[in-house]
Amino acid sequence: MKITNVEAFWLRCPIPKEKQHFSDYGLLTDFDMTLVVVTTDTGLQGFGEAKAAVGSSGVCASIVTCVEKEIKPLLVGKDAHHITRIWEHIYNGTRDHYALKRGRKFPILGRRGLTISAMSGVDTALWDLKGKALGVPVVQLLGGACREKMPAYASGGWAGTDKIGEQLLGYVSKGFQGVKMRVGVMDESVQESIRRVRAAREALGENIKLMTDAHGTFSVPEAKQFCRGVEDCNLYWFEEPISPDNRHGTAEVKASTAIPIAAGESEYTAFDVRDLIEVRALDVVQPDSAIIGGITEAMRVAHLAHAYQLELAPHCWGSAFSFMAGVNVAFAAPAATIIEFSLGGNPMMYDLVQEKIQAVDGMIEAPTAPGLGLTPNWDFVKEFKQTI
Ligand SMILES: [Mg+2]
Repeated sequence: MKITNVEAFWLRCPIPKEKQHFSDYGLLTDFDMTLVVVTTDTGLQGFGEAKAAVGSSGVCASIVTCVEKEIKPLLVGKDAHHITRIWEHIYNGTRDHYALKRGRKFPILGRRGLTISAMSGVDTALWDLKGKALGVPVVQLLGGACREKMPAYASGGWAGTDKIGEQLLGYVSKGFQGVKMRVGVMDESVQESIRRVRAAREALGENIKLMTDAHGTFSVPEAKQFCRGVEDCNLYWFEEPISPDNRHGTAEVKASTAIPIAAGESEYTAFDVRDLIEVRALDVVQPDSAIIGGITEAMRVAHLAHAYQLELAPHCWGSAFSFMAGVNVAFAAPAATIIEFSLGGNPMMYDLVQEKIQAVDGMIEAPTAPGLGLTPNWDFVKEFKQTI
């Protein structure tokens, strides 16, 4: 199964006005993604996603260029089965022979950032391809599903103090037993974030899992104040309290509270996650397969979570492709217990693919379709493809 072509498409689709929301990223009016397509001489194609942003909106031009101008020439003619070898080849560049001979990295300069995002899309497409070639879901290639079903949590929660309870209860009425709400600078003050969380907990009662996400926008003192103000709200986790650039600061926030601290969606490679774990910044690890380095690297992070006895909760805010990559990793990982399910306006999750993505009664079933089990809707791709 030799690789004959590697393509990347930047798609930008408007979010319908009634589904737009205001968050720490501002008002999101569009959803962007990069669809990576790896074609082989068998006619089989694999699909993956590469991200230029952790949120919905981001310019993907650099990723497209990196995939088509830098990575494609390295891959054409290679055997698509050799996923790890290809990962090491891209990551180590001209020195990959040293890397594979000596068992350690000799990385290219683009060992973090959008080069790794681009690699993520390619790597995920290769896993998709291999699953299709063997007629099994990706999770089967990763060791098999650890469970039949997993709970999903509803990821949303942008409403103000007066409406947040109603908004989150709307998710609960769809069957979700866990919900995530946004806090942070979008609230203008820490006190307002605290008020919103307290209102949410009051409306939800004791038994629904409640998570909060500040998208890295608080300062260390603000994050500590927030934790103190909601310490009795039984939060399941507090996500990205402060900037991902401040690892020791995240550890300081964690040391100040009993609330579990989650992060990882803004990190590149298992090396970044290892450093976060080593400074004791994390309780919950959240790799995004479209950012961290693909399914290969997300599984390396899953093994780190296992070894350090941390919870794994893949970041699944993106298109159907990164969602299903996260789902396959979560099912394969003993350390994962819950899957993120976007309740925002997300055409990339529902209109980009022919399959129907859903959580039934708040649960997701173990994948069974070959590869990632997704077929692009090519009319959608044609309509929303951006010219670079
Ligand atoms: Mg987040």
